[in-house]
Amino acid sequence: MKAVRFTNWKTFPSLEEVARPTPGPGEVLLKIAGAGACHSDIAIFEQFDESMGAQLAPSYTLGHEDAGWVEELGGGVTGLAVGDACLAYGPIGCGQCPACSRGQDTYCYNAATQPYLANGLGRDGGMAEYMTVPARNLVPLGDADPVAAAPLADAGLTPYHAIKLSLPKLQGGGKTALVIGLGGLGQLAVQILTAITGATVFATDMKPEAMVEAEKFGAVPIEGGEGQVERIRELTGGQGVDAVFDFVGITPTIQVAQQVVRRQGRITIVGVAGQPTSWDFYSNPYEAELTNTYWGTIE
Ligand SMILES: [Zn+2]
Ligand SMILES: [Zn+2]
Repeated sequence: MKAVRFTNWKTFPSLEEVARPTPGPGEVLLKIAGAGACHSDIAIFEQFDESMGAQLAPSYTLGHEDAGWVEELGGGVTGLAVGDACLAYGPIGCGQCPACSRGQDTYCYNAATQPYLANGLGRDGGMAEYMTVPARNLVPLGDADPVAAAPLADAGLTPYHAIKLSLPKLQGGGKTALVIGLGGLGQLAVQILTAITGATVFATDMKPEAMVEAEKFGAVPIEGGEGQVERIRELTGGQGVDAVFDFVGITPTIQVAQQVVRRQGRITIVGVAGQPTSWDFYSNPYEAELTNTYWGTIE
């Protein structure tokens, strides 16, 4: 079968002919319908090096947001049938610790001793005709199209998880959210926020066309640059935003978040740019939370 292989650090992936894998005990062979390309894939082959450690070391097939149809069941697998359309939850932990037991393999207690992080992140992923995956990682799609659904495994799940954790801040009338950074995840965040909350959703990005796209999904676009913080505060009656989601994570975006969040609000940094910010007792409004989050859970 054909597979997109990450073969060496700082090397563009290559399309190769590899053997079709066989599902082990507890695993399923998935016939891939769709595999999303994530910004992290570019980081893997352009930026990562030996310092990332053995878990991400090449070679392997890329693709950590995958969906397809069950082709073959490994030993002991029940509850799935050949032909079922499923989304594959990417992270793979030990499967037995308290975190994995609640379907949160991202925070596996034994992550340090696992041989890989996820499908397509150290273990063969879905940019291939077939992929093996632990049966517990499969989420039934019902009649949803597995081609279109594939990016939901990361680009959808990551903002969904962040938003779910912020829902207590968005319950009740007159609440507001701000999405900073309108790439793939940010655009999905706008759609999820408008679908599952009643909040007014503000959205901002340096690219005007990205804001036009977010506006189509119900967001109120806010131009960046000078006066942005004041505009947002004015639009929230001077109170600030209840829940801010930063899909960039650079110092200026985090600072905007800190300046517009309201008292008892919440800032979630989802973007992995990894830049610092300063925080002291007086720099954030009282009881405003500043947190990060990573990917999501099977549930
Ligand atoms: Zn990703
Ligand atoms: Zn675990």
